This record gives sequence, structure tokens and C-alpha cells, in this order.
Amino acid sequence: MPSLAPTTTNPQLAAIAATVAAGGRISDDDALALLACDDLPLLGWLAEQRRYQRVPERRATFIIDRNINYTNVCITRCKFCAFYRLPGDPEGYVLSHEEIFAKIDELRGAGGHQLLLQGGHHPSLKIDWFEALFAAIKGRYPEIHLHALSCSEIAHIARRSKLDLAETLKRLRAAGLDSIPGAGAEILDDRVRDEIAPYKESTASWLEVMREAHRQGLTTSATMMYGTVETDAELVAHLARLRDLQDETGGFVAFIPWAFQPEHTELEEATRRGAVEYLKILATSRIYLDNFDHLQASWVTQGEKVGQLALFFGADDMGSTMLEENVVSAAGCTFRLGRAELARLIERAGLEPALRDQQYRILGPA
Ligand code: SF4
Repeated sequence: MPSLAPTTTNPQLAAIAATVAAGGRISDDDALALLACDDLPLLGWLAEQRRYQRVPERRATFIIDRNINYTNVCITRCKFCAFYRLPGDPEGYVLSHEEIFAKIDELRGAGGHQLLLQGGHHPSLKIDWFEALFAAIKGRYPEIHLHALSCSEIAHIARRSKLDLAETLKRLRAAGLDSIPGAGAEILDDRVRDEIAPYKESTASWLEVMREAHRQGLTTSATMMYGTVETDAELVAHLARLRDLQDETGGFVAFIPWAFQPEHTELEEATRRGAVEYLKILATSRIYLDNFDHLQASWVTQGEKVGQLALFFGADDMGSTMLEENVVSAAGCTFRLGRAELARLIERAGLEPALRDQQYRILGPA
């Protein structure tokens, strides 16, 4: 853990530093002060204090997984999305079981064992389609961890199948669902959601799916896509809702903030938030989310150099090798790193690279 504290003459920042050093909780107002702070060394130092309080080992982890987008057909038309195609569009697709199996074979060939399976809100795929797919995957590849379906996909499946949320999750779990990614959170504030994704699930719905998933014993991650129309106060409100739910359930294993990628979306004119803002938001998240163990560096959206720097601003994990990624790449973001490159980045940052599973259990050296 870094020991030499940068000094500050700002009394609120000095009070925050004392709170963090003592392992205490900061307020929403403190988080706003951190977002407004331009003293990057201080933010990095505070974030590292918190990081080593939660994860004492001087290592950084990642997972070998593969993203499979089973369909790009979607009726929800989020303005920030460059991935979806409307029903009837000639570029729309639904992958067959055979196509999905071929991709899983590639994942196994690369030494991976987690499948991140997500897709659009298809109007006619109901729960029986997902049960058949999950059962087929688990029947053929029992060792594969199925990390699948965002909250909004689960709410969509429940609605289309005329089932309640608890029953939907129960059936998906029985078919093979192991854990749920935190996607679809964007910013958990309905003013922002109404503006960027007016037909998507509300803040309350996202939180309710997560609450029920945790209640049923499924672990999940949480994300935040910033850089569209949110204010700093709305960004902090997002973090507050996650921290509150984590106090209640303890079911989140990780948090991943990432920057909106505007190309080819209806929000193409949005201002790109750069590397400094990313590091400030990452550090603030780490300091504020005192009940989360793991924060991921988003090298997929920030590139390898900023991704490496993120390890000094609160991140303890480099996410995954992303053998396939279609969503942010559709919005013009095409960074790619393999297992050896991720391990090298971690080593050159002075940390020990290690492979992990979805629960962040260490599998061995990377
Ligand atoms: S983000 Fe998801 S729900 Fe929204 S349009 Fe894209 S695929 Fe559909």
C-alpha cells in the first residue's frame, strides 16, 4: 500500500483522506468533491488506500472469457446503442445452437471457461428459448460458467413470457444460469434513462432484478456507463443506489465504470470524456463504494495504457480477454488484448498477474 500521503490544503479533501485512512464511509457530498478535484495524485492515493483495504494482495487479476451476442434484434432502440437492428432488418440475426457451440469450442481452445452471453430485446424469444439454449450449453459443456443476460433482458423475457421476475430467474437458474453481468445499468437515474433509453427498464426495475437475483443466490456485477447526459450529482446517485443495495444483499462481486462510445449512435454529438475524467471517476467510485471488493479497469474503452494506469486509481482487475466483443466495437471502439499482453501490462505495473473465475477466486498465475 502506498504510504506517503500527498498533502492538500482543501479542508474537505483532508477530512475525506482521514476518513478513508480510517476505513470509514464518505458522503455523497464528499463524492462530488472528489469528482471536482483536479489533484490526480491525491485521488490515486486515496483510491489505492481503499483498494488495499479491500484487496490486500499486490496482484491484479483477469478472466479468459468470450462474449457471445446471441441476437442483435432489439425493439428497445436505446439512443446510445450502435449494436441493435430492428425486427425485419436484413442485418438482424439470431445465432443457432451450432453457431454458439462453435464459438464455445474456440473459447475452450483458448483456455477459457466463462461465457458472457447477452443480446437484444428480441420480440419473440421467450423463456423456453433461453431454457433450451442454456440446457444445451450445460449438457455439452458442463464446466462452462454461464454469465448471462442483463437485468433489462431478464425483465423483457419475464414480460414476453408472462411470468413474474422470481419465477423467471428461478427457471433460468434451473436451466444453467450461473451469474448475471451488470450491463444495462447505464446511469441509474430516471431523468438520464428517459433521455438516452426511453423504452428501457427503469432504475427501480434494474435494482429489483439485481435484488431478486441476489436473493436467489446468484452473484452479479454492476456497471456504470457515463458520459452521455448525466450530471455529477446523477453519477453519484448511481453509486449511492449500488452501495445501498450492496449493504442490503452483498451480492455484487465487482463494479465496472466505462465511458460511453458515441460513434454510429443517436448521441454521436455527445462530448467524449477523456482519460483524466475516466481516472477521476474510477478513483471516486473506488473510494465511495467501500463495500465492493473488486473494480475492473476498462481497457476495452480506454486502451491498454490508460487501462494499466487504472491499476493505480482503484482497479484491481483487468476484466477479461474478450475473445469477441460486438457492442462497443459497433460504436467505434476496437481495443484488443490477449492473455499474454494483459499479463505483461500487469507485470510492468509492478503487480502479480493472476487468472480468476467469476467469483474472483484465484485459479493460478496468468
Ligand atoms: S443497449 Fe441493449 S436494449 Fe438498448 S438498443 Fe442496444 S441491444 Fe437493445
